[in-house]
Amino acid sequence: SDADAQAAPGHIDPATLCDVYRYRRIGENTRIFGVIGDPVMHSRSPWIHNPAFDALGIDAVYVPFHVDDPRELLTACADLDVDGLSVTIPHKERITDLLSSIDETVREVGSCNTVVRRNGRLDGYNTDVRGFLTAVSRLFADGAPPRRTTVVGAGGTARAVLHALTGAGCEVLVVNRTVERARELAERYGCLVAPLSKDSIGLLRSYSALIVQTTSAGMKPHDDLDPLWFYDFDGSETVFDVIYAPPETLLLSRAREAGCVTSNGWRMLLEQAYLQFELFTGGKYPRERVAPTPPHVEG
Ligand code: NAP
Repeated sequence: SDADAQAAPGHIDPATLCDVYRYRRIGENTRIFGVIGDPVMHSRSPWIHNPAFDALGIDAVYVPFHVDDPRELLTACADLDVDGLSVTIPHKERITDLLSSIDETVREVGSCNTVVRRNGRLDGYNTDVRGFLTAVSRLFADGAPPRRTTVVGAGGTARAVLHALTGAGCEVLVVNRTVERARELAERYGCLVAPLSKDSIGLLRSYSALIVQTTSAGMKPHDDLDPLWFYDFDGSETVFDVIYAPPETLLLSRAREAGCVTSNGWRMLLEQAYLQFELFTGGKYPRERVAPTPPHVEG
């Protein structure tokens, strides 16, 4: 396949195979890591992990595994000699029951984004929580998120974000399209809950010092959606959208134009991947030597 037109689903073009996956250097001792998801071919994680293996001279490759049933791949991990996995949509919750052990964060959040295979065991971790907290903290001069914050959405990512924010001492308002789903989070995290509608504008304003957008509304191919369409930013809000493709969602663009401090989800993706890299290799990610690029930079 050439780079622009896949001959079949999952085909990778020769230039990417050689440049990103270092295909010509893969041998029988090459360690295998990967990301499992459905869909997964859009994942930017191979562009983050492979250059780091290269920079450190580690004989390893990181590949996408398009998997609709994670049980099958976990069973095959030993035969394929897969040493570690990132886990993405829609497997983060379901996979927690299939592992030998899970760490405290996975147990508390109920979602796992990292699996490491050691001595035949499969150990699960969650690096989204710390990845988000590190990324969002950079937006504030004192390195701490404000006391009152809003989370838009109540899915898996919202749980990780809520875990991070309440752990940092924030009072959180969760606004979601399906209010019942948000109520489950309220029971667990003691947050306030409101519908994702005009009726919530007043409450939202009083929890707007930081607004974290965690829904998939605004992500390609739904980039014509703005989940907070009814809310006018006044410039005082800091707005973090976990989406990174497109680099600026409609919501972020409105917030920036109103004068808000804004961030997309690319830094969060990097920070959670740096932590994964440490779990995979036992060493630090070579940040000073590798600067992964978000999808929009390479086009
Ligand atoms: P999820 O568990 O399926 O949750 C989806 C959430 O989006 C739910 O709250 C759902 O509301 C809401 N939603 C979906 N379509 C909507 C619409 N049209 N209008 C309003 N709300 C809508 O998904 P997830 O795993 O949390 O992932 C959410 C996003 O986070 C994805 O875009 C993913 O790529 C991104 N993400 C980014 C990073 C990063 O490192 N930057 C990490 C993880 C995830 P209902 O409850 O009403 O259905």
